[in-house]
Amino acid sequence: MSSVKRIAQEVAAPNAADVDSKARFPTEAVEALREAGVLSALVPRELGGAGCTMAQLAQLCSTLAQACGSSAMVLAMHYSQLSCIARHGMDSEFFRNWMRETVWKQWLLASMTSEVGTFGDTRSSICAVDVQGERFTLNKDATTGSYCQHADAILVTCRRDATAANSDQVLVMVRKGDYDLKQTTSWDTLGMRGTCSPGFKLESHGDARQVIPGAFADSSAQTMVPYSHILWASLWWGIAADAVARAANFVRGQARQTPGSTPPTAQRLAEVWEDLQTMKQTWWAAAQAFDAVEDREELLGLNWALRLNNLKVACSEAAPQIVHRALQIVGILGYKNDSPFSLGRQYRDSLSGSLMISNDRINAKSAAMLLVYKDLP
Ligand SMILES: Cc1cc2nc3c(=O)[nH]c(=O)nc-3n(C[C@H](O)[C@H](O)[C@H](O)COP(=O)(O)OP(=O)(O)OC[C@H]3O[C@@H](n4cnc5c(N)ncnc54)[C@H](O)[C@@H]3O)c2cc1C
Repeated sequence: MSSVKRIAQEVAAPNAADVDSKARFPTEAVEALREAGVLSALVPRELGGAGCTMAQLAQLCSTLAQACGSSAMVLAMHYSQLSCIARHGMDSEFFRNWMRETVWKQWLLASMTSEVGTFGDTRSSICAVDVQGERFTLNKDATTGSYCQHADAILVTCRRDATAANSDQVLVMVRKGDYDLKQTTSWDTLGMRGTCSPGFKLESHGDARQVIPGAFADSSAQTMVPYSHILWASLWWGIAADAVARAANFVRGQARQTPGSTPPTAQRLAEVWEDLQTMKQTWWAAAQAFDAVEDREELLGLNWALRLNNLKVACSEAAPQIVHRALQIVGILGYKNDSPFSLGRQYRDSLSGSLMISNDRINAKSAAMLLVYKDLP
């Protein structure tokens, strides 16, 4: 935790504006995370990693997000992919070796779930892996692929084989050197510009053992969704916390100018502080509840599915609202791009949350579940 705090303050924060304005990969921050061994934080201890819990990973992501939202999103996405291998590849000697390697080589893992034709529905694929003997080939036309050009490997969702239904998916790890990426769209976005997430046509091949054992239906519900939603929520909170910290500095500056009286903005600060704290309780409680789960089958139930959906929707909506309120406190100095109180990057970054797997899509799934689920949250 102390090394991530240092990286956030000394490396990510000073480069955040440049990463944002040039829409470039946060190379310095990711290199520093590599050097500090942070990329393998969740690899199980028996394989040489730190075996970090969800609560610990969420703290790392939220800390980094207070300095640079894009760097934190890269770290969170990497963890949500690595967790699939760490939790579903443990019976495979190939993946156990790959994780041991990750500890000393600090591989960076990217993800390709979205696809032209299925868009934001992660539980549906058109492309299929073709396994012939000990080798596979896999081609995918992905709409969005964060930092794929900077990754050492990508986890790709696809149909189990050419005859499988769209929802009968597996996860395949494709490794740098074994794939060709053709960029198909641009990434000139409002925010999260440093994630470098254009569309790509992927052509890949590899060892058949790179197909993660089991169905993606299970690894998605038991691992990819909980890790993504809890870690994303923690980093959206980090972005909001950065904005509130700037607003608090602004209010304290006003207070120093009028000793003995409390500036009117202090009341607004107290109000936004409450929202920030509520948001933190939401992801922190979910992370701790996840760490307390003893039987992974529990995660396949409606209770967890609804809880994770609610967490994602609530936190992705709360973050831009909190940044907006921080901006009302700071005023024009927050609106300016060249002021120490500037909130433009935080605002734009926080807007990505509700689109990153559309909240409408998530609410539609929750609505269907609530037709049969009768317990209260
Ligand atoms: C910063 C960032 C990084 C990303 N990184 C990656 C990555 O690394 N890998 C990856 O695979 N993807 C990535 N994505 C893609 C992301 O996860 C989604 O797949 C993608 O943003 C969805 O695109 P969409 O909004 O066009 O699609 P859709 O989800 O299809 O949404 C399109 C429209 O349809 C509406 N809609 C959809 N379903 C419903 C419904 N049931 N009811 C009502 N309205 C509905 C939505 O509200 C929206 O208006 C990233 C996205 C962002 C913002």
